[in-house]
Amino acid sequence: IYLMPTPNSILIIGAGIAGLTIVERIMRNQQSLAVTIVGATDERSQRVSFWRDRNRSAALALPGAQSWSAWSFNTQKLGFSLQRGKALEYVSFDARSYKAHLTDSLQQAGVRHFDDLVKSVQKTSQGFHIETSQRAIEADVVIDTRPPELPESTLKQQFVGRTLTTQSPHAIAHPVLMDFNIAPIAPNGISFIYALPLSDTRLLVEATTFSYETLAQEPYESAIDAWIQAHVPAVELNPRDEVEHGILPMGPVTPRQTELLAAGLAGNAARHATGYAFTGILRQAEHFAEALRTGQGLTTIQPYSGRSRWMDSLFLDLMRDNPAHLIQLFEAMAHSLSGDDFAHFLSDTGGWMPCLRTIAAAPKRPFLAALWKRL
Ligand SMILES: Cc1cc2nc3c(=O)[nH]c(=O)nc-3n(C[C@H](O)[C@H](O)[C@H](O)COP(=O)(O)OP(=O)(O)OC[C@H]3O[C@@H](n4cnc5c(N)ncnc54)[C@H](O)[C@@H]3O)c2cc1C
Repeated sequence: IYLMPTPNSILIIGAGIAGLTIVERIMRNQQSLAVTIVGATDERSQRVSFWRDRNRSAALALPGAQSWSAWSFNTQKLGFSLQRGKALEYVSFDARSYKAHLTDSLQQAGVRHFDDLVKSVQKTSQGFHIETSQRAIEADVVIDTRPPELPESTLKQQFVGRTLTTQSPHAIAHPVLMDFNIAPIAPNGISFIYALPLSDTRLLVEATTFSYETLAQEPYESAIDAWIQAHVPAVELNPRDEVEHGILPMGPVTPRQTELLAAGLAGNAARHATGYAFTGILRQAEHFAEALRTGQGLTTIQPYSGRSRWMDSLFLDLMRDNPAHLIQLFEAMAHSLSGDDFAHFLSDTGGWMPCLRTIAAAPKRPFLAALWKRL
């Protein structure tokens, strides 16, 4: 897509993480551009985590964010293991507060925000004509962050998370990224628990699957209950415990209207091997802001490098052939990679070395078979 290099007006569909992050980034150096967001305020409970270079933490304001310099894994074969990040840290923030903060500051900066639903977008000779549930709007450029459809053939990451309070301090000191030591939730996929210690007495426990099928919420709830019973004594029953859930694409997606610029999950921000999307959203925001600043045409970008996408396709081949092989691969990465290599690999930073070390750590036979197929 190549659109007018210096548009006068931009409309963003969706007031989710991508829509608001992109507008915030654009507004830093565009005072004269008319920017409109169309989408209801997103009140979902959502905790978002990603890896960040310790030295660049000032570049992004994340109110109330927490960070850790170590994270752990638990596998059936090798038990618990801890990885430490030296240059990179694991950061987590409450996305609802983040969105509320951005919504307020963008309104103060003069961004129009309509809580409407976009019904249709049509290309015109001047730009775009947008019909919403409440009004009609014209804009030179439209960036679409409406979530994409997820066909059955797309592998999905599905999860249910519960934030709970304990009566006495729990013993989970670091984020548990993957605990594979649980009864399977998805019959034809992989299942694990993710746990994030938000304080001494607050914990987010998330049951996650990588699977082609979409499952009911109940087996995830049971997996959370079982994990809590095994690892967290004295849980306070609190009706206000927050529950979050999601289904993320682990494979290429097509936006709802291919003639529009796409961003967020709709623009393939979710990393195919993991579902992590925030790093991709930051790259999309940076790209749009930079293209506007320099007067280049706006395009939809692939937020991850060709190297990462190629590695992800190998991961997904492994999963397709035999889900147990993907668990073995994560197990090998947990035990053989340094924290920084693991974090760089997942964040698509640090060049080829983290990828090569991942290949060196991978279980040889299934990985070489997947590699052979790709070649
Ligand atoms: C519970 C949860 C936890 C996650 N945790 C992480 C994490 O730890 N790390 C990570 O990297 N990623 C995480 N993700 C993945 C990713 O970061 C999020 O899905 C993120 O919300 C994606 O942002 P988005 O703007 O693309 O989509 P969304 O946040 O879903 O925003 C899309 C917006 O479009 C709006 N919309 C839809 N249709 C219309 C319409 N017709 N008109 C107007 N608006 C419309 C929706 O209401 C929504 O607000 C998580 C996702 C979920 C759901």
